[in-house]
Amino acid sequence: MPVINHFIRGEEAAGTGTDTKPIYNPATGQITAELRLATPEDLGHTVAIAKAAAESWGDTSLSKRTNVLFKFRELVAAHVDELAALITAEHGKVLSDAKGEIGRGLEVIEYACGIPTLLKGDYSDQASTGIDVFSFREPIGVVAGITPFNFPVMVPLWMAPMAIATGNAFILKPSHRVPSAAMLLARLFQEAGLPDGVFQVLHGDREVVSGLLSHPDVDGISFVGSTPVAKHVLETATKHGKRVQALGGAKNHAIVLPDADLDNAADHLAAAAFGSAGQRCMAISVAVAVGDAADLLVKKVEERAVAVNVNNGTEPGAEMGPVISPESKEFIVKTISEAEKAGAAMVVDGRDLVVPGHEDGFWVGPTVIDHVKTEMSAYTEEIFGPVLVVVRVEDLEEGIRLINANPYGNGTAIFTSSGAAARKFQRSVDVGMIGINVPLPVPVAYYSFGGWKASLFGDKHIYGPEGVSFYTRGKVITSRWPEAEHASGASYNFPSN
Ligand code: NAD
Repeated sequence: MPVINHFIRGEEAAGTGTDTKPIYNPATGQITAELRLATPEDLGHTVAIAKAAAESWGDTSLSKRTNVLFKFRELVAAHVDELAALITAEHGKVLSDAKGEIGRGLEVIEYACGIPTLLKGDYSDQASTGIDVFSFREPIGVVAGITPFNFPVMVPLWMAPMAIATGNAFILKPSHRVPSAAMLLARLFQEAGLPDGVFQVLHGDREVVSGLLSHPDVDGISFVGSTPVAKHVLETATKHGKRVQALGGAKNHAIVLPDADLDNAADHLAAAAFGSAGQRCMAISVAVAVGDAADLLVKKVEERAVAVNVNNGTEPGAEMGPVISPESKEFIVKTISEAEKAGAAMVVDGRDLVVPGHEDGFWVGPTVIDHVKTEMSAYTEEIFGPVLVVVRVEDLEEGIRLINANPYGNGTAIFTSSGAAARKFQRSVDVGMIGINVPLPVPVAYYSFGGWKASLFGDKHIYGPEGVSFYTRGKVITSRWPEAEHASGASYNFPSN
C-alpha cells in the first residue's frame, strides 16, 4: 500500500507519528493509499522551518520571486494531465472537470506573476515642506492554508501563489481525503526554484489544524471549508492574534424568471447542480422558479437530469462522478428521503443509482425535488451532493426575499432577458458573487472571490487584490532630509504643515 508523506524543507518526510488514515478512490470504494498524520512535534518543526524561510524569502527581490512564479506556472501547465489524474482518483470528479479546476488555479498563478505591479506603493512628494510620504507593503510571515476536499488543486492555488508572491512562507494542510495533488504541487514549486521551506505540506485533520491556529509563529490563516469549521477557525485563530480569512459553505439559489430562455436556463441549472456531483461551493442547489415558468422549467431540468452520464471520472464521456465518501452518500440519501416524507415532489430520484462495474463506489444519481418548502432539511442543509431543490415563488421580489433570508450568501444567479430585472437583482441580493445568465459566477483571478454572511468569516476575500492585501501589511514612511533652506526647528506643537 503506498504511503503519502509530508513535504518538509524541500523533501518528503515521514514525520514522527505512526497514525495513518486510508485514502479512497470514491468511484471504486477501494483504499488506494495510507496518509501519514502529523504530530505536534512535526508541526513545531515545520513551522520553525517556515519561519526561517519566510525571513529570507521575504527579503528576496521581486524579480527573483516573479521568476519562480513564471516557472511554476509553466510546470503546472505541463502537468495538467498528471494533476487531473490525481484529483479524479481521490475526489472522483470527471477528468475534464479536474482539468477545469486546474485552469482556474493557473489563472491565479498568472495574476501572482504580476506581483511587482501589484505591490507598488504610493509616493507623495512635498507632503509638507521638505517632507515626503510614501508607503509599501511587507509580507506577514508564515501563512497556513487549510483546504477542503472538493478542489484539491484550485483552492490551494487560490492561496499559495498569492502568499508566496507577496513574500510569505506557506504551509498547506490539505484535506485528508485528497492529499496527493498537494504533494505534486510541492515538487513543482521546488522544481521552479522556490527555496526549501517556503512551501511545505503537512497532513492531518482537526488536530493539525488546532496546532496551526494556536502556534505563535503562524501569522495568518487562509481557510476554505464548511461553515461550522470556518467559524471555529476564525474565532480560535483571531483569539491567538492571527489574521484570518475563513470561507465557509453555501446554498446557492438561481432564480429563473418567466422571460428567460428556459432551455438555456435548464441546461445551465443541470450543469451547475450536477457537475462534480454537486460538490462545489458555487454549485446551484436551489432553483427558484418564478410564476408560470415553474412547470416547464422543472420538466426541462428533469429531461437533462435523467440524461447525465454518471460514471467513473476516468471513463470517456462521463459527466458526473461519485460523491466523496459513504458518510456523505448516507447524508444525501437521508436528506432526500426527509424531503419526500415532508411532502415534496420527487421529480428525479438518484438514491438507488448503481454504476455497473463500480458497485462499491459512493454513488448518488442526479436528483430533482420540486415543491420544496423552506422549513424542509433539503432546503436548510447544505446537502453537497447532486440534488437540485425547486422552490416556487410568485415574483422576483419574493425570490429576492427568499435569497436574503437564507443564512448563506456565497453565490447566486438570475436567468432573465430583462436588464431591469437583472439590475434590480444585482443591487438587492445580500450575496457576494452574482451571475446574470451565468450559473457559476466564480470571479476571474484579477477580482477577488468571497461570499457574504455564513459563507465567509473575516474581512478579506481570497485571491485577487484582496489576496494581496490579506498577505501583506502596510508601512507608511514620513521622511525629511534636511537641507539648509528647509531645515526647520523642532516644535512642541503637533506638526501640521
Ligand atoms: P470541512 O470543513 O470538513 O474541512 C475543511 C478543512 O478543515 C479540511 O482540511 C479538514 O481537515 C479541516 N477540518 C475538518 N473538520 C475540522 C475541525 N473540526 N476542526 C479543524 N479542522 C477541521 O470541509 P470539506 O468537507 O472538506 O469541504 C466541503 C465544504 O467546503 C462545503 O461546506 C463547501 O461549501 C465548502 N467550500 C467552500 C468554498 C468557498 O469558497 N466558500 C470552496 C470550497 C468548499
